[in-house]
Amino acid sequence: MTDPELIARILGALTGVVGVAVCLGYGLWRFLALALSAAWAAFRTDPPGGTDPRITPYTGPEPARPAYWAGQMWLDARFAGQAAALTVWYLLTRHWLGLVVRRRLLRGRNGQTGELADNGFGRLLLRLLAPGTALAALLSALLASVLLAGVALFFAVEIVLVALAALAATLAGRGAERLWKLALGIRMKCPYPGCYRPFPLAVHLCPACGAAHRELRPGAFGALRHVCRCGKALPSTLMTGRRALTARCPHCDRNLPPAVGTTRVVHLPLIGGTSAGKTMLLAAVLDGLRSWSHESRLTVEYASPDDLREANALGQELNRTGWTLKTQGGQPRALMLLVGHGRRRRLLYLYDPMGESFRDADTTRGQGYLAHADGVLLVTDVLAAPVVRRALHAGDTERAQAARPADLGPVETYAGFTGELQGLGGRRGRLPVATVVTKRDALDRLDSLPRPAEPVEAWLAEIGLDELVRALGHDFAAARYWVVSAHAATGAGALDSERRRAAEPVLWLLSRTGLRVGGLVRDRRERPDAPVRADPRTHPDPRDRPDTEGTEGTQDAQVGHGEERSNTP
Ligand SMILES: [Zn+2]
Ligand SMILES: [Zn+2]
Repeated sequence: MTDPELIARILGALTGVVGVAVCLGYGLWRFLALALSAAWAAFRTDPPGGTDPRITPYTGPEPARPAYWAGQMWLDARFAGQAAALTVWYLLTRHWLGLVVRRRLLRGRNGQTGELADNGFGRLLLRLLAPGTALAALLSALLASVLLAGVALFFAVEIVLVALAALAATLAGRGAERLWKLALGIRMKCPYPGCYRPFPLAVHLCPACGAAHRELRPGAFGALRHVCRCGKALPSTLMTGRRALTARCPHCDRNLPPAVGTTRVVHLPLIGGTSAGKTMLLAAVLDGLRSWSHESRLTVEYASPDDLREANALGQELNRTGWTLKTQGGQPRALMLLVGHGRRRRLLYLYDPMGESFRDADTTRGQGYLAHADGVLLVTDVLAAPVVRRALHAGDTERAQAARPADLGPVETYAGFTGELQGLGGRRGRLPVATVVTKRDALDRLDSLPRPAEPVEAWLAEIGLDELVRALGHDFAAARYWVVSAHAATGAGALDSERRRAAEPVLWLLSRTGLRVGGLVRDRRERPDAPVRADPRTHPDPRDRPDTEGTEGTQDAQVGHGEERSNTP
Protein backbone atom coordinates (compact mmCIF):
# COMPACT_ATOMS: atom_id res chain seq x y z
CA MET A 1 0.00 0.00 0.00
CA THR A 2 1.17 3.51 -0.60
CA ASP A 3 1.26 6.70 1.28
CA PRO A 4 -1.90 7.06 3.42
CA GLU A 5 -1.69 10.83 2.92
CA LEU A 6 -2.17 10.37 -0.83
CA ILE A 7 -5.16 8.12 -0.25
CA ALA A 8 -6.67 10.72 2.04
CA ARG A 9 -6.14 13.38 -0.58
CA ILE A 10 -7.73 11.29 -3.31
CA LEU A 11 -10.68 10.49 -1.09
CA GLY A 12 -10.96 14.16 -0.11
CA ALA A 13 -10.91 15.27 -3.74
CA LEU A 14 -13.45 12.59 -4.66
CA THR A 15 -15.71 13.74 -1.82
CA GLY A 16 -15.44 17.36 -2.97
CA VAL A 17 -16.15 16.53 -6.61
CA VAL A 18 -19.08 14.28 -5.74
CA GLY A 19 -20.42 16.89 -3.30
CA VAL A 20 -20.36 19.77 -5.77
CA ALA A 21 -21.60 17.66 -8.68
CA VAL A 22 -24.53 16.17 -6.80
CA CYS A 23 -25.41 19.52 -5.30
CA LEU A 24 -25.43 21.46 -8.58
CA GLY A 25 -26.68 18.65 -10.72
CA TYR A 26 -29.56 17.54 -8.57
CA GLY A 27 -29.69 18.39 -4.83
CA LEU A 28 -30.00 22.17 -4.99
CA TRP A 29 -32.89 22.05 -7.48
CA ARG A 30 -34.64 19.37 -5.52
CA PHE A 31 -34.41 21.46 -2.36
CA LEU A 32 -35.63 24.59 -4.14
CA ALA A 33 -38.49 22.88 -5.92
CA LEU A 34 -39.85 21.19 -2.82
CA ALA A 35 -39.45 24.26 -0.56
CA LEU A 36 -41.15 26.56 -3.08
CA SER A 37 -44.05 24.22 -3.70
CA ALA A 38 -44.56 23.91 0.07
CA ALA A 39 -44.58 27.70 0.40
CA TRP A 40 -47.02 27.99 -2.50
CA ALA A 41 -49.35 25.46 -0.93
CA ALA A 42 -49.36 27.50 2.27
CA PHE A 43 -50.65 30.53 0.35
CA ARG A 44 -53.58 28.59 -1.03
CA THR A 45 -55.87 28.84 1.97
CA ASP A 46 -58.93 27.29 0.48
CA PRO A 47 -61.81 27.16 0.55
CA PRO A 48 -62.24 30.80 1.63
CA GLY A 49 -64.13 30.89 4.89
CA GLY A 50 -63.91 27.12 5.13
CA THR A 51 -62.42 24.99 7.81
CA ASP A 52 -58.76 25.55 6.99
CA PRO A 53 -57.07 25.65 10.41
CA ARG A 54 -54.75 28.36 9.20
CA ILE A 55 -57.68 30.75 8.87
CA THR A 56 -58.45 32.44 12.16
CA PRO A 57 -62.17 33.22 12.09
CA TYR A 58 -63.04 36.85 12.79
CA THR A 59 -65.18 37.06 15.92
CA GLY A 60 -65.73 40.83 16.22
CA PRO A 61 -69.11 42.57 16.06
CA GLU A 62 -68.99 43.55 12.39
CA PRO A 63 -70.81 41.02 10.18
CA ALA A 64 -68.11 41.18 7.52
CA ARG A 65 -64.91 39.40 6.67
CA PRO A 66 -61.73 41.33 7.32
CA ALA A 67 -59.94 42.24 4.10
CA TYR A 68 -57.27 39.73 3.01
CA TRP A 69 -54.55 42.33 3.10
CA ALA A 70 -55.48 43.45 6.59
CA GLY A 71 -54.93 40.09 8.30
CA GLN A 72 -54.84 36.76 6.53
CA MET A 73 -52.24 37.88 4.00
CA TRP A 74 -49.63 38.30 6.75
CA LEU A 75 -50.55 34.97 8.33
CA ASP A 76 -50.30 33.25 4.96
CA ALA A 77 -46.91 34.82 4.34
CA ARG A 78 -45.72 33.55 7.71
CA PHE A 79 -47.06 30.06 7.02
CA ALA A 80 -45.34 30.06 3.62
CA GLY A 81 -42.01 31.06 5.13
CA GLN A 82 -42.32 28.42 7.83
CA ALA A 83 -43.28 25.76 5.30
CA ALA A 84 -40.24 26.50 3.14
CA ALA A 85 -37.84 26.45 6.10
CA LEU A 86 -39.30 23.22 7.49
CA THR A 87 -39.07 21.57 4.08
CA VAL A 88 -35.38 22.42 3.77
CA TRP A 89 -34.72 21.15 7.28
CA TYR A 90 -36.65 17.94 6.72
CA LEU A 91 -34.94 17.21 3.39
CA LEU A 92 -31.50 17.78 4.89
CA THR A 93 -31.79 15.89 8.14
CA ARG A 94 -34.37 13.20 7.53
CA HIS A 95 -34.08 12.43 3.87
CA TRP A 96 -30.51 13.12 2.80
CA LEU A 97 -28.45 12.65 5.95
CA GLY A 98 -30.71 10.20 7.73
CA LEU A 99 -32.01 7.97 4.97
CA VAL A 100 -29.73 8.28 1.94
CA VAL A 101 -26.36 8.68 3.65
CA ARG A 102 -26.65 6.85 6.95
CA ARG A 103 -29.09 4.06 6.30
CA ARG A 104 -28.28 3.36 2.64
CA LEU A 105 -24.84 4.45 1.35
CA LEU A 106 -22.93 3.74 4.57
CA ARG A 107 -24.47 0.26 4.59
CA GLY A 108 -23.43 -0.41 1.01
CA ARG A 109 -26.91 0.10 -0.42
CA ASN A 110 -27.97 2.09 -3.43
CA GLY A 111 -28.81 5.66 -2.36
CA GLN A 112 -31.88 5.86 -4.59
CA THR A 113 -33.36 2.39 -4.47
CA GLY A 114 -31.98 1.06 -1.18
CA GLU A 115 -30.77 -2.20 -2.87
CA LEU A 116 -27.69 -3.87 -1.46
CA ALA A 117 -24.75 -3.94 -3.90
CA ASP A 118 -23.92 -7.37 -5.41
CA ASN A 119 -20.27 -7.56 -4.39
CA GLY A 120 -17.77 -6.15 -1.89
CA PHE A 121 -16.31 -3.72 -4.40
CA GLY A 122 -19.64 -2.24 -5.13
CA ARG A 123 -20.42 -1.87 -1.43
CA LEU A 124 -17.06 -0.16 -0.84
CA LEU A 125 -17.68 2.25 -3.68
CA LEU A 126 -21.07 3.16 -2.24
CA ARG A 127 -19.57 3.72 1.20
CA LEU A 128 -16.91 5.95 -0.34
CA LEU A 129 -19.66 8.04 -1.96
CA ALA A 130 -21.36 8.68 1.39
CA PRO A 131 -19.22 11.67 2.57
CA GLY A 132 -19.57 13.34 -0.84
CA THR A 133 -23.34 12.91 -0.73
CA ALA A 134 -23.51 14.32 2.77
CA LEU A 135 -21.48 17.29 1.59
CA ALA A 136 -23.84 17.72 -1.38
CA ALA A 137 -26.81 17.74 0.99
CA LEU A 138 -25.23 20.37 3.23
CA LEU A 139 -24.23 22.53 0.27
CA SER A 140 -27.67 22.21 -1.31
CA ALA A 141 -29.43 23.16 1.92
CA LEU A 142 -27.15 26.15 2.40
CA LEU A 143 -27.44 27.45 -1.15
CA ALA A 144 -31.21 26.81 -1.25
CA SER A 145 -31.62 28.72 2.02
CA VAL A 146 -29.74 31.70 0.61
CA LEU A 147 -31.80 31.69 -2.59
CA LEU A 148 -35.07 31.16 -0.69
CA ALA A 149 -34.23 34.08 1.60
CA GLY A 150 -33.90 36.20 -1.52
CA VAL A 151 -37.27 35.02 -2.80
CA ALA A 152 -38.80 35.67 0.63
CA LEU A 153 -37.42 39.19 0.65
CA PHE A 154 -38.88 39.79 -2.79
CA PHE A 155 -42.29 38.56 -1.64
CA ALA A 156 -42.11 40.56 1.55
CA VAL A 157 -41.63 43.68 -0.52
CA GLU A 158 -44.53 42.63 -2.73
CA ILE A 159 -47.00 42.12 0.07
CA VAL A 160 -45.93 45.33 1.78
CA LEU A 161 -46.64 47.07 -1.51
CA VAL A 162 -50.03 45.37 -1.73
CA ALA A 163 -50.82 46.45 1.81
CA LEU A 164 -49.69 50.00 1.09
CA ALA A 165 -51.82 50.13 -2.04
CA ALA A 166 -54.84 48.89 -0.09
CA LEU A 167 -54.14 51.40 2.66
CA ALA A 168 -53.83 54.18 0.10
CA ALA A 169 -57.15 53.14 -1.48
CA THR A 170 -58.72 53.15 1.98
CA LEU A 171 -57.44 56.60 2.82
CA ALA A 172 -58.37 57.92 -0.62
CA GLY A 173 -61.88 56.48 -0.25
CA ARG A 174 -62.36 58.03 3.16
CA GLY A 175 -60.84 61.33 2.09
CA ALA A 176 -62.99 61.55 -1.03
CA GLU A 177 -66.10 60.82 0.99
CA ARG A 178 -65.20 63.45 3.56
CA LEU A 179 -64.55 66.06 0.89
CA TRP A 180 -67.76 65.20 -0.86
CA LYS A 181 -69.76 65.60 2.32
CA LEU A 182 -67.98 68.81 3.14
CA ALA A 183 -68.66 70.23 -0.31
CA LEU A 184 -72.35 69.37 -0.13
CA GLY A 185 -72.66 70.41 3.50
CA ILE A 186 -73.85 66.96 4.57
CA ARG A 187 -73.99 66.48 8.30
CA MET A 188 -76.05 63.45 9.22
CA LYS A 189 -78.44 63.79 12.10
CA CYS A 190 -81.15 61.56 13.39
CA PRO A 191 -84.68 62.90 12.74
CA TYR A 192 -86.33 60.96 15.56
CA PRO A 193 -87.56 62.20 18.91
CA GLY A 194 -85.47 61.26 21.89
CA CYS A 195 -82.41 61.00 19.68
CA TYR A 196 -81.79 63.87 17.25
CA ARG A 197 -78.12 62.97 17.53
CA PRO A 198 -75.51 63.54 14.87
CA PHE A 199 -73.51 60.59 13.58
CA PRO A 200 -70.60 60.27 11.16
CA LEU A 201 -71.68 56.97 9.66
CA ALA A 202 -75.08 55.28 9.53
CA VAL A 203 -75.62 51.58 10.13
CA HIS A 204 -76.20 49.85 6.77
CA LEU A 205 -78.17 46.67 6.28
CA CYS A 206 -77.03 43.88 3.99
CA PRO A 207 -79.72 43.54 1.29
CA ALA A 208 -79.24 39.77 1.22
CA CYS A 209 -79.27 38.76 4.90
CA GLY A 210 -80.18 41.93 6.79
CA ALA A 211 -77.00 41.97 8.88
CA ALA A 212 -76.26 45.42 10.34
CA HIS A 213 -72.90 46.76 9.18
CA ARG A 214 -71.72 49.53 11.46
CA GLU A 215 -68.37 50.04 9.75
CA LEU A 216 -69.35 50.17 6.10
CA ARG A 217 -66.61 52.50 4.93
CA PRO A 218 -63.10 51.98 3.56
CA GLY A 219 -61.08 50.21 6.24
CA ALA A 220 -59.82 46.89 7.54
CA PHE A 221 -62.90 45.15 6.13
CA GLY A 222 -62.09 46.30 2.63
CA ALA A 223 -61.18 49.46 0.80
CA LEU A 224 -63.95 49.76 -1.77
CA ARG A 225 -66.23 46.88 -0.84
CA HIS A 226 -66.90 44.73 2.18
CA VAL A 227 -67.93 41.11 1.99
CA CYS A 228 -70.84 40.35 4.30
CA ARG A 229 -70.68 37.16 6.32
CA CYS A 230 -73.40 35.84 4.00
CA GLY A 231 -71.01 36.29 1.08
CA LYS A 232 -72.66 39.36 -0.46
CA ALA A 233 -70.30 42.13 -1.52
CA LEU A 234 -71.38 45.56 -0.31
CA PRO A 235 -70.12 48.90 -1.65
CA SER A 236 -68.30 50.72 1.11
CA THR A 237 -68.40 54.31 -0.09
CA LEU A 238 -71.11 56.77 -1.00
CA MET A 239 -69.65 57.10 -4.46
CA THR A 240 -69.70 53.38 -5.21
CA GLY A 241 -73.33 52.86 -4.30
CA ARG A 242 -73.62 52.56 -0.53
CA ARG A 243 -76.49 55.03 -0.62
CA ALA A 244 -78.75 52.38 -2.12
CA LEU A 245 -78.61 50.31 1.09
CA THR A 246 -81.13 50.68 3.88
CA ALA A 247 -79.64 52.86 6.60
CA ARG A 248 -80.35 53.15 10.30
CA CYS A 249 -79.44 55.56 13.05
CA PRO A 250 -76.48 54.12 15.01
CA HIS A 251 -77.87 55.55 18.26
CA CYS A 252 -81.55 54.66 18.21
CA ASP A 253 -81.60 52.01 15.47
CA ARG A 254 -84.53 53.52 13.58
CA ASN A 255 -84.68 53.63 9.80
CA LEU A 256 -83.27 56.70 8.12
CA PRO A 257 -84.56 58.15 4.85
CA PRO A 258 -82.39 57.09 1.89
CA ALA A 259 -81.29 60.66 1.20
CA VAL A 260 -79.85 61.25 4.67
CA GLY A 261 -76.28 60.45 3.75
CA THR A 262 -76.28 62.14 0.36
CA THR A 263 -78.21 65.33 0.78
CA ARG A 264 -77.72 68.33 2.96
CA VAL A 265 -80.22 68.32 5.79
CA VAL A 266 -82.06 71.50 6.73
CA HIS A 267 -83.71 71.47 10.14
CA LEU A 268 -86.65 73.82 10.55
CA PRO A 269 -88.65 73.78 13.78
CA LEU A 270 -92.10 75.36 13.87
CA ILE A 271 -92.20 77.33 17.08
CA GLY A 272 -95.46 78.56 18.52
CA GLY A 273 -97.84 78.24 21.44
CA THR A 274 -100.50 75.54 21.72
CA SER A 275 -103.24 76.23 19.19
CA ALA A 276 -101.19 78.92 17.45
CA GLY A 277 -101.88 77.06 14.22
CA LYS A 278 -98.58 75.26 13.75
CA THR A 279 -99.98 72.01 12.43
CA MET A 280 -102.45 73.82 10.20
CA LEU A 281 -99.57 75.83 8.85
CA LEU A 282 -97.54 72.66 8.35
CA ALA A 283 -100.35 71.18 6.28
CA ALA A 284 -100.58 74.43 4.31
CA VAL A 285 -96.81 74.39 3.74
CA LEU A 286 -96.97 70.85 2.36
CA ASP A 287 -99.80 71.82 0.01
CA GLY A 288 -97.97 75.00 -0.91
CA LEU A 289 -94.73 73.24 -1.79
CA ARG A 290 -96.69 70.82 -3.95
CA SER A 291 -98.40 73.72 -5.66
CA TRP A 292 -95.04 75.40 -6.32
CA SER A 293 -93.68 72.17 -7.75
CA HIS A 294 -96.44 72.09 -10.34
CA GLU A 295 -95.56 75.39 -11.85
CA SER A 296 -91.81 75.72 -11.36
CA ARG A 297 -88.64 73.65 -11.35
CA LEU A 298 -89.11 73.00 -7.68
CA THR A 299 -89.32 69.29 -6.88
CA VAL A 300 -90.88 67.99 -3.70
CA GLU A 301 -91.09 64.41 -2.52
CA TYR A 302 -91.53 62.68 0.79
CA ALA A 303 -88.29 61.28 2.11
CA SER A 304 -89.84 57.99 3.21
CA PRO A 305 -93.15 56.13 3.11
CA ASP A 306 -93.67 57.11 6.74
CA ASP A 307 -93.61 60.78 5.81
CA LEU A 308 -96.09 60.26 3.02
CA ARG A 309 -98.38 58.42 5.43
CA GLU A 310 -98.07 61.15 8.02
CA ALA A 311 -98.79 63.90 5.52
CA ASN A 312 -101.79 62.01 4.17
CA ALA A 313 -103.18 61.51 7.64
CA LEU A 314 -102.79 65.22 8.29
CA GLY A 315 -104.55 66.11 5.03
CA GLN A 316 -107.41 63.68 5.64
CA GLU A 317 -108.03 65.02 9.08
CA LEU A 318 -108.11 68.56 7.76
CA ASN A 319 -110.55 67.62 5.02
CA ARG A 320 -112.81 65.86 7.50
CA THR A 321 -112.87 68.29 10.38
CA GLY A 322 -111.38 71.50 9.06
CA TRP A 323 -109.01 71.40 12.01
CA THR A 324 -105.96 69.49 12.98
CA LEU A 325 -105.67 67.83 16.32
CA LYS A 326 -103.47 69.35 18.93
CA THR A 327 -99.93 68.07 18.47
CA GLN A 328 -99.35 65.19 20.84
CA GLY A 329 -96.42 63.63 22.54
CA GLY A 330 -93.24 64.91 24.10
CA GLN A 331 -90.90 65.31 21.20
CA PRO A 332 -91.84 65.51 17.56
CA ARG A 333 -90.68 63.27 14.78
CA ALA A 334 -89.42 65.38 11.93
CA LEU A 335 -91.52 65.30 8.79
CA MET A 336 -88.96 64.76 6.07
CA LEU A 337 -89.22 66.14 2.57
CA LEU A 338 -86.77 66.16 -0.29
CA VAL A 339 -86.92 69.59 -1.84
CA GLY A 340 -84.91 70.20 -4.97
CA HIS A 341 -84.34 72.96 -7.45
CA GLY A 342 -82.10 72.46 -10.46
CA ARG A 343 -79.40 70.04 -9.44
CA ARG A 344 -79.41 70.94 -5.78
CA ARG A 345 -81.46 69.17 -3.22
CA ARG A 346 -82.16 69.58 0.46
CA LEU A 347 -83.52 67.07 2.89
CA LEU A 348 -85.94 69.21 4.85
CA TYR A 349 -86.70 68.17 8.43
CA LEU A 350 -89.83 69.97 9.63
CA TYR A 351 -90.39 69.67 13.36
CA ASP A 352 -93.84 70.35 14.72
CA PRO A 353 -93.44 70.23 18.49
CA MET A 354 -96.44 70.65 20.72
CA GLY A 355 -96.91 74.16 22.02
CA GLU A 356 -96.33 73.17 25.64
CA SER A 357 -92.77 72.23 24.76
CA PHE A 358 -91.70 75.83 25.05
CA ARG A 359 -93.42 76.68 28.32
CA ASP A 360 -90.25 76.43 30.36
CA ALA A 361 -86.54 75.97 30.04
CA ASP A 362 -86.54 72.27 30.98
CA THR A 363 -88.97 71.10 28.34
CA THR A 364 -87.42 73.41 25.78
CA ARG A 365 -84.05 71.85 26.49
CA GLY A 366 -85.61 68.47 25.74
CA GLN A 367 -86.15 69.62 22.15
CA GLY A 368 -82.66 68.57 21.13
CA TYR A 369 -83.20 69.33 17.46
CA LEU A 370 -83.07 73.04 18.26
CA ALA A 371 -79.30 72.69 18.47
CA HIS A 372 -79.17 71.81 14.76
CA ALA A 373 -81.80 74.26 13.53
CA ASP A 374 -80.91 76.01 10.28
CA GLY A 375 -83.65 78.53 10.76
CA VAL A 376 -86.82 79.04 12.74
CA LEU A 377 -90.41 79.22 11.60
CA LEU A 378 -92.06 81.30 14.28
CA VAL A 379 -95.80 80.71 14.21
CA THR A 380 -97.51 83.70 15.66
CA ASP A 381 -101.11 83.96 16.76
CA VAL A 382 -101.58 87.64 17.49
CA LEU A 383 -105.02 86.95 18.94
CA ALA A 384 -103.26 85.38 21.92
CA ALA A 385 -101.35 88.55 22.70
CA PRO A 386 -102.80 90.34 25.75
CA VAL A 387 -102.20 93.72 24.12
CA VAL A 388 -104.29 92.68 21.11
CA ARG A 389 -107.02 91.12 23.23
CA ARG A 390 -107.39 94.34 25.19
CA ALA A 391 -107.92 96.31 22.00
CA LEU A 392 -110.84 94.18 20.85
CA HIS A 393 -114.32 95.67 21.07
CA ALA A 394 -117.51 93.86 21.79
CA GLY A 395 -118.32 91.29 19.14
CA ASP A 396 -114.71 91.00 18.09
CA THR A 397 -113.86 89.30 21.36
CA GLU A 398 -116.27 86.49 20.50
CA ARG A 399 -114.98 86.27 16.97
CA ALA A 400 -111.43 86.09 18.25
CA GLN A 401 -112.46 83.38 20.71
CA ALA A 402 -114.02 81.36 17.89
CA ALA A 403 -110.63 81.31 16.18
CA ARG A 404 -109.26 79.28 19.13
CA PRO A 405 -106.46 81.61 20.11
CA ALA A 406 -103.22 80.15 21.40
CA ASP A 407 -102.68 79.70 25.11
CA LEU A 408 -99.58 81.84 25.12
CA GLY A 409 -98.94 85.19 23.49
CA PRO A 410 -96.32 85.41 20.75
CA VAL A 411 -93.98 87.52 22.87
CA GLU A 412 -94.14 84.99 25.70
CA THR A 413 -93.68 82.03 23.35
CA TYR A 414 -90.68 83.66 21.79
CA ALA A 415 -89.20 84.58 25.15
CA GLY A 416 -89.64 80.97 26.29
CA PHE A 417 -87.63 79.39 23.55
CA THR A 418 -85.17 81.99 22.42
CA GLY A 419 -82.90 81.83 25.43
CA GLU A 420 -82.74 78.06 25.03
CA LEU A 421 -82.00 78.23 21.35
CA GLN A 422 -79.12 80.48 22.18
CA GLY A 423 -77.97 78.15 24.93
CA LEU A 424 -78.32 74.98 22.85
CA GLY A 425 -76.69 76.13 19.71
CA GLY A 426 -75.13 79.46 20.46
CA ARG A 427 -75.96 80.26 16.85
CA ARG A 428 -79.10 82.33 16.97
CA GLY A 429 -77.28 85.38 15.65
CA ARG A 430 -76.48 83.46 12.47
CA LEU A 431 -79.95 82.04 11.85
CA PRO A 432 -82.86 83.45 9.90
CA VAL A 433 -86.33 83.59 11.39
CA ALA A 434 -89.47 83.49 9.28
CA THR A 435 -92.38 84.82 11.27
CA VAL A 436 -95.77 83.68 10.10
CA VAL A 437 -98.84 85.36 11.49
CA THR A 438 -101.60 82.76 11.27
CA LYS A 439 -105.39 82.93 11.25
CA ARG A 440 -105.56 85.72 8.72
CA ASP A 441 -109.16 84.78 7.96
CA ALA A 442 -110.14 85.55 11.55
CA LEU A 443 -108.10 88.74 11.61
CA ASP A 444 -109.86 89.92 8.45
CA ARG A 445 -113.20 89.75 10.22
CA LEU A 446 -112.22 91.95 13.16
CA ASP A 447 -113.22 95.60 13.08
CA SER A 448 -111.24 96.64 16.16
CA LEU A 449 -107.87 95.97 14.50
CA PRO A 450 -106.36 97.37 11.36
CA ARG A 451 -106.58 94.73 8.61
CA PRO A 452 -103.37 92.72 8.18
CA ALA A 453 -101.38 94.55 5.56
CA GLU A 454 -97.93 94.68 4.08
CA PRO A 455 -95.34 95.04 5.33
CA VAL A 456 -96.46 92.70 8.05
CA GLU A 457 -93.82 93.87 10.51
CA ALA A 458 -95.29 97.36 10.33
CA TRP A 459 -98.76 96.03 10.88
CA LEU A 460 -97.49 94.05 13.91
CA ALA A 461 -95.98 97.20 15.34
CA GLU A 462 -99.25 99.00 14.75
CA ILE A 463 -101.27 96.51 16.78
CA GLY A 464 -98.81 96.74 19.66
CA LEU A 465 -96.34 93.94 18.96
CA ASP A 466 -93.43 96.21 18.08
CA GLU A 467 -91.52 94.64 20.94
CA LEU A 468 -91.57 91.24 19.18
CA VAL A 469 -90.52 92.73 15.86
CA ARG A 470 -87.66 94.56 17.52
CA ALA A 471 -86.51 91.47 19.39
CA LEU A 472 -86.56 89.27 16.28
CA GLY A 473 -84.72 91.86 14.22
CA HIS A 474 -82.12 92.15 16.91
CA ASP A 475 -81.66 88.50 17.79
CA PHE A 476 -81.52 86.85 14.38
CA ALA A 477 -79.36 87.29 11.33
CA ALA A 478 -82.43 87.95 9.23
CA ALA A 479 -86.13 88.25 9.97
CA ARG A 480 -89.05 88.24 7.57
CA TYR A 481 -92.79 88.26 8.03
CA TRP A 482 -95.80 86.72 6.41
CA VAL A 483 -99.47 86.64 7.20
CA VAL A 484 -101.26 83.49 6.15
CA SER A 485 -104.66 81.91 6.37
CA ALA A 486 -103.96 78.22 6.75
CA HIS A 487 -107.70 77.65 6.46
CA ALA A 488 -107.73 79.25 3.02
CA ALA A 489 -104.63 77.28 2.05
CA THR A 490 -105.76 73.79 2.97
CA GLY A 491 -108.66 71.46 2.57
CA ALA A 492 -111.36 71.54 -0.07
CA GLY A 493 -111.61 74.80 -2.01
CA ALA A 494 -108.12 75.90 -1.04
CA LEU A 495 -106.74 78.93 -2.82
CA ASP A 496 -103.60 78.25 -4.81
CA SER A 497 -102.22 81.71 -4.09
CA GLU A 498 -102.68 81.24 -0.35
CA ARG A 499 -101.10 77.80 -0.48
CA ARG A 500 -98.04 79.13 -2.18
CA ARG A 501 -97.86 82.00 0.21
CA ALA A 502 -97.88 79.53 3.10
CA ALA A 503 -94.86 77.78 1.59
CA GLU A 504 -92.92 80.98 0.98
CA PRO A 505 -91.43 81.23 4.48
CA VAL A 506 -90.01 77.72 4.06
CA LEU A 507 -88.71 78.53 0.58
CA TRP A 508 -87.06 81.64 1.91
CA LEU A 509 -85.41 79.71 4.74
CA LEU A 510 -84.28 77.08 2.21
CA SER A 511 -82.87 79.76 -0.06
CA ARG A 512 -80.61 80.81 2.80
CA THR A 513 -79.02 77.36 2.77
CA GLY A 514 -77.98 77.78 -0.86
CA LEU A 515 -80.97 76.22 -2.58
CA ARG A 516 -81.82 78.58 -5.41
CA VAL A 517 -85.49 78.98 -4.67
CA GLY A 518 -85.48 82.61 -3.59
CA GLY A 519 -85.95 83.48 -7.24
CA LEU A 520 -89.24 81.62 -7.35
CA VAL A 521 -90.90 83.84 -4.87
CA ARG A 522 -89.22 86.89 -6.32
CA ASP A 523 -90.60 86.03 -9.78
CA ARG A 524 -94.05 85.98 -8.38
CA ARG A 525 -93.59 89.41 -6.91
CA GLU A 526 -92.46 90.79 -10.22
CA ARG A 527 -95.38 89.43 -12.13
CA PRO A 528 -97.77 92.10 -13.38
CA ASP A 529 -100.68 90.84 -11.31
CA ALA A 530 -98.66 91.02 -8.14
CA PRO A 531 -99.09 93.00 -5.03
CA VAL A 532 -100.83 96.12 -4.31
CA ARG A 533 -98.46 97.65 -1.81
CA ALA A 534 -99.95 99.02 1.33
CA ASP A 535 -99.85 102.71 2.04
CA PRO A 536 -96.22 103.42 2.89
CA ARG A 537 -97.05 106.42 5.07
CA THR A 538 -98.46 104.30 7.81
CA HIS A 539 -95.58 101.84 7.67
CA PRO A 540 -92.22 103.15 8.66
CA ASP A 541 -89.70 100.38 8.05
CA PRO A 542 -89.38 98.71 11.41
CA ARG A 543 -86.57 96.34 10.52
CA ASP A 544 -83.72 97.09 12.82
CA ARG A 545 -81.09 96.09 10.37
CA PRO A 546 -80.98 95.24 6.75
CA ASP A 547 -80.61 91.65 5.72
CA THR A 548 -77.28 91.32 4.01
CA GLU A 549 -76.55 87.67 4.61
CA GLY A 550 -79.15 86.00 2.46
CA THR A 551 -77.85 84.25 -0.61
CA GLU A 552 -80.46 86.07 -2.59
CA GLY A 553 -79.42 89.43 -1.22
CA THR A 554 -82.03 91.94 -0.33
CA GLN A 555 -83.96 91.67 -3.54
CA ASP A 556 -86.48 89.27 -2.17
CA ALA A 557 -86.68 91.02 1.14
CA GLN A 558 -90.35 91.57 0.64
CA VAL A 559 -91.09 88.06 -0.51
CA GLY A 560 -94.65 87.13 0.04
CA HIS A 561 -95.79 90.56 0.97
CA GLY A 562 -98.71 92.15 -0.59
CA GLU A 563 -100.71 89.58 -2.42
CA GLU A 564 -104.28 90.56 -2.31
CA ARG A 565 -106.16 89.46 0.68
CA SER A 566 -107.45 85.93 0.54
CA ASN A 567 -111.05 84.98 0.85
CA THR A 568 -111.89 82.79 3.72
CA PRO A 569 -113.46 79.52 2.71
ZN1 LIG B 1 -75.35 39.60 4.27
ZN1 LIG C 1 -81.44 58.19 16.26
